[in-house]
Amino acid sequence: MSGAPLPSLFLSHGAPSLPLDRAHPTYAFLKNLGSTLERPRAILVVSAHWDTRTPTLTTSLRPDTIHDFYGFPAPLYALRYPAPGSPELARDAAGLLRGAGLGAEFDLERGLDHGAWVPLLLMYPLADIPVVQLSVQTRSGAAHHLALGHALKPLRDQGVLIVGSGGATHNLREFFQPAPGQDESYVPRFTTWLKDVLERGDKAALADYRRLAPDAARAHPTEEHFFPLLAAAAAGGKAERIHTAMSGASLAMDSYRFS
Ligand code: ZN
Repeated sequence: MSGAPLPSLFLSHGAPSLPLDRAHPTYAFLKNLGSTLERPRAILVVSAHWDTRTPTLTTSLRPDTIHDFYGFPAPLYALRYPAPGSPELARDAAGLLRGAGLGAEFDLERGLDHGAWVPLLLMYPLADIPVVQLSVQTRSGAAHHLALGHALKPLRDQGVLIVGSGGATHNLREFFQPAPGQDESYVPRFTTWLKDVLERGDKAALADYRRLAPDAARAHPTEEHFFPLLAAAAAGGKAERIHTAMSGASLAMDSYRFS
């Protein structure tokens, strides 16, 4: 360990089938990503696929792999990510969240959903680094998720890799049922705005993204895939876009490192 804090990351996880999709550029990106980082002591993943009123942390010593999706190829349901949990990290994170006035709860039963295990299976296939998952709170808005990330920042000094797992854009209706001749030019408009704001470190613009970002409501009809990005951005430092790709015409797969 060099003693330098670990970066935080935002990863677009795309479809649950990404671990079977070797031809997708994001597959190779995630496969290589672990080797570009110092090995973390533990990983805290803020997943788009767990939405609660109060920030909630997994405390299981052996979190299950949750296959929280339907209609995908059978081999996907056979995949497991048997990383250990870390009740100790959950307690530390809860202490920081409570200290910031955000509250925190524990869930002993909850496993890892595909927002957590899809990218981690590619990044750290040995599943030998403890993982804790943290929920999003879609009722609480953008500023709340910036505060949540900011509160967790000290964990980076303790060898914890903070990962926000969501999507740079996430309009599933347009993904699954594109209208004939559908104009998807809003996707690069939104992601270009996002890159610019993140690189400037403009937290006020991020907090007000729903009003300021072009086509925000079309890029994110619901906000659960955007909020992990805000948490990762506020937990980290200088932003760098480390990956860009598309799934179909509407899901931007951009990923960021916040050093
Ligand atoms: Zn997702």
